[in-house]
Order: sequence, then C-alpha cells, then structure tokens
Amino acid sequence: MNATPSPFLQQVLQEATPPTSPLVLANGVTAIWHDGSAIELRPANLAASASHILLSCGVHGNETAPIEVVDGILADIASGQLALRHPLLVLFGNPEAMRCGERYLDYDLNRLFNRAYLQHPGLRESKRAAILEQHADRFFQQAKPAGKRLHYDLHTAIRGSVYEKFAIYPFLQQRQHDRAQLAWLKHCGIEAVLLHSKPANTFSYYTSHAHQADAFTLELGKARPFGENDLSRFTGIDLALRQLLSDSTPPLPDYQHDDIPLFRAKYDLIKHSEDFRLHLSSGVENFTLLPDGFVIADDGSQRYIASGGDERILFPNPTVKPGLRAGIVVEPTRL
Ligand SMILES: [Zn+2]
Repeated sequence: MNATPSPFLQQVLQEATPPTSPLVLANGVTAIWHDGSAIELRPANLAASASHILLSCGVHGNETAPIEVVDGILADIASGQLALRHPLLVLFGNPEAMRCGERYLDYDLNRLFNRAYLQHPGLRESKRAAILEQHADRFFQQAKPAGKRLHYDLHTAIRGSVYEKFAIYPFLQQRQHDRAQLAWLKHCGIEAVLLHSKPANTFSYYTSHAHQADAFTLELGKARPFGENDLSRFTGIDLALRQLLSDSTPPLPDYQHDDIPLFRAKYDLIKHSEDFRLHLSSGVENFTLLPDGFVIADDGSQRYIASGGDERILFPNPTVKPGLRAGIVVEPTRL
C-alpha cells in the first residue's frame, strides 16, 4: 500500500477540477472522472462475464483507512502494477466531510439513500446521496446479464468490536443469500455477518435492491485520522480486492454454515423520550454479549431486557434524538 496519496486522492482532497476527457493509463486502462469524486476505470478488453465492481469509501468522511486502501489500489492500477480485468467505479462518498475530517456535515449520509434524501431536502448529504445513486445507476446499467454487479461499501466503526471486521448483508427481499459471497468475505478476513431483515437507507441496500447487486457494508476496524491508520490491519481486504480486480482469487472452499458467525437483527432499541437510559458503558464494544435477564435500557415505564444469553448489542448510541434507533439487539442465525 502507498504511504502518500495517489494523484486520484490528491485530486479529491484538493478539490481540483477533474480532467474532462478520459485518460489512458498503463495497460490500456481508461480512466474517466465523472465528477471530482467519482472515477471509473475500464480495461481495454473485457470478457463478457466481466463483473462491474463498485467500491465506495468515505461515505463517512472520517473513516480514512478504507480510503487509503482504495487509493493504493487505484495508484497500482494507474502504474500498471495491478492488472484490472473488470470495470471498476470508485466513489469517494462524502468528499467535503473527508476534507474536514468529519463523519458528516449536516446529516449521516448512510441514512439518506434509497430516495430517503427526498425527505431531507437542502442538506449537503442529501445532494451527495442523490449524486451517488446516479453514479451507481449509470455504472450498473452498463453491466451485461452474464456479469455480476458487486458493491463493497467500505467503512470503519466509531467503537471497538468483539468481531473487529464484520459485514452487513442488506435485506434481500425474495433473493437468496449468496454463499460464494460469504466464502469471499471470509477470505477477506471478515469475522461476522449481520443478515439484515428489513430495508434500510444505506448505500449497500440501495444497490442491492435497485440493481440486484451483491452489495455489502464492510466494517473493517476502528476509525482514525489520515496517516494514523495501521494499514497492516487491512491487508486481508486489500489483498482480496486486488485479487478480485485482477481475476487472481484462489479457489475458495465452499461456505459451510459455521464458517463465519451469522447474526440477525432481533429488534431495535428505540429511544422514545429523553428518559431513555442505556445500561451499557459508553465504550461498550459492538457484538458484546448480553446476559440473560440483563436490563439493556429503560425509557420511562418501558424496559428492554435481554433474554436467552446469546443476544448481543450492535451500534449502541443513546445520544440520538427521541424517536430514533439507539441500538440493535442481534441474535445468532444460520442460512
Ligand atoms: Zn461508516
């Protein structure tokens, strides 16, 4: 991985005007800037079975490690060190927030996809969500029926996690979970997968639902500022993405049911009032086990009590506004 930003990331961070005509890079790869934060790379010769691969990073602007991983990949494609065999679209999700080192400016961008931005007009992130959906639409509409549509939305989490690297598999409506994708996630070093059981306003749900993409939100560790990431902790995903893009993934064993712990959302902890109290420390890790009978939270007369001893807490956040989700209680599941 590269220690200094490639010209691609420098372009995004410096808000430079992108090249208006396509550039031909090493190995005949064509680079097209669709705007200052969306770059499409197309190899010279495409197999009919080529996948369309979307990598998004910086949807939360302060989650820098995935940005650096993707940028290193772009740099190595540009120099010819990494062969590209599939059309690749890289979207830097929230460049303004990236430049400020903030998670977001007006509103959490990853709650505004799936047309939710229409309910929040005027926010800077609403404008971004609409633009990102358009980029994804245009890209995936070019995919041939024989080719896969893949989207990995790369994040790092605010808090620590019992499973340091985990994936969120968006709700699939009637579609089946893809075992080859689960095997590939294991190959990336993903340690747990949450199978979502309802629609969400996330980027990965949008591409999964609108384009039948194999789409995932990947949480790859803890968020740190640019330059302070220990990129050695990201070698699993970095290598797996490079193999995917260059068609050099080794044969992977079939997914077996206990290869990665799978969880499903059991219920949301809803903060109904300012009386809401979460009985977990502020530093509690994602996927912390909740003992049977433990009072997770109370809210006036309502109490949330853990049952069974195998429930776990995910994304606890008691500081949300009343009416919003203050955490998810998950439980083990299988396909
Ligand atoms: Zn994030």
